[in-house]
Amino acid sequence: MDDAPAAQSPSEEDVLGLLRGVIDPELGSNIVELGMVKGVVVDDDGRVKVTVALTTAGCPLRAQIQRDVRTRAGSIPGVSSVEISWTELTQDEKAATMARARFNISQDAPETEIPATTKVLMVASGKGGVGKSTVTVNLAAALAEKGLTVGVMDADIWGYSVPRMLGVEGRLGGSPEVGKIDPIEVPVGDGLVKIVSMGFLVDREETALMWRGLMLNRAVQHFCEDVAWGSMEYLLIDMPPGTGDVQMGLAKLLPRAEMVVVTTPALAAQKVAERVANMGRNNYLRVVGVIENMSAFVAPDGEHHELFGRGGGEALAADIGAPLLGSIPIDPGVSSGGDQGRPAALGDGPAGKAFRALAEVIFTEAAPPVDMAGCSARMLAAAEKALDAAEA
Ligand code: ADP
Repeated sequence: MDDAPAAQSPSEEDVLGLLRGVIDPELGSNIVELGMVKGVVVDDDGRVKVTVALTTAGCPLRAQIQRDVRTRAGSIPGVSSVEISWTELTQDEKAATMARARFNISQDAPETEIPATTKVLMVASGKGGVGKSTVTVNLAAALAEKGLTVGVMDADIWGYSVPRMLGVEGRLGGSPEVGKIDPIEVPVGDGLVKIVSMGFLVDREETALMWRGLMLNRAVQHFCEDVAWGSMEYLLIDMPPGTGDVQMGLAKLLPRAEMVVVTTPALAAQKVAERVANMGRNNYLRVVGVIENMSAFVAPDGEHHELFGRGGGEALAADIGAPLLGSIPIDPGVSSGGDQGRPAALGDGPAGKAFRALAEVIFTEAAPPVDMAGCSARMLAAAEKALDAAEA
């Protein structure tokens, strides 16, 4: 008696079709679309060989991808075994994969109240106390002074200091009829700074300390979705220091956000700052560059005092392959200005000049406002190029 005929071996397309269900958990898209499936071979006995290229050989998600590939390919009638071999994406392939993932994520990004024409910059640092909030506020003031409208989202619950540094206090007002929160507005020069801060939500700093990741994440989401930001050229987000839930949450909410990393000249601090930059990149955020704060103090006699060491900004920039955007010297005017709600960026001290130079670099080269970048046409072209590259 003959055996029942074995099911016919599936075609390679059949296998690829099923593999489209395997999602790279980190990149959020399927491995076929991301160009990570390098080959599928099916022999007459139904043995399937799949070659998968990972972003790095030691990818911690390998086990999960392996399981998913096996389960999916193995579920096709006629498949007798599934064998996977692993390789690594080349640099070019990795860039194309990332571009594709970024594009897909931007397509699925949730609606926020932050206009598409707003350039979003996350101001991040490895640890607290390096002057991240100071840089955020002063950069906002220097950009606003040019006549721009700049939003500041103070997402640093533990060190929320933005309201004080800009000389505002109070609670957030609302527009009950539209159910949105209004940011607090401060005119600066010809421009405007719009602020939303954790400090407006909590009464006392001790309350803030009790906030945990998830709650914080919700608050930040709230700031993106329920604040009537209105039009603005820039939104600067003062991030909590280090890597964590808020970074991940914001990267998902605002996939087009870009990142600047604040560091001090102390070389020892660079490793942790580098981790922050890498985390941004792992969430597909472009790292615009590095800002060194607390660089040499220039005494009135012209002598330089490198109180916090030297070279940290340059070293970090070189390590993460991003430019050094500016160095802000130690200047007593920065802390007194911060305490009095008058940002040093608006004054003539050494830090004021440095902040204005930094704003100029950001405005003209490093992260120009969306309109200046020729918005739709160029963005579309870039996205299409990324897609072509990913498909090639
Ligand atoms: P972070 O946000 O990184 O925790 P802050 O912006 O709160 O840090 O700054 C920490 C302290 O250092 C503040 O008291 C601030 O006034 C001071 N500071 C920051 N940058 C400078 C600078 N360039 N010169 C002098 N003091 C500074």
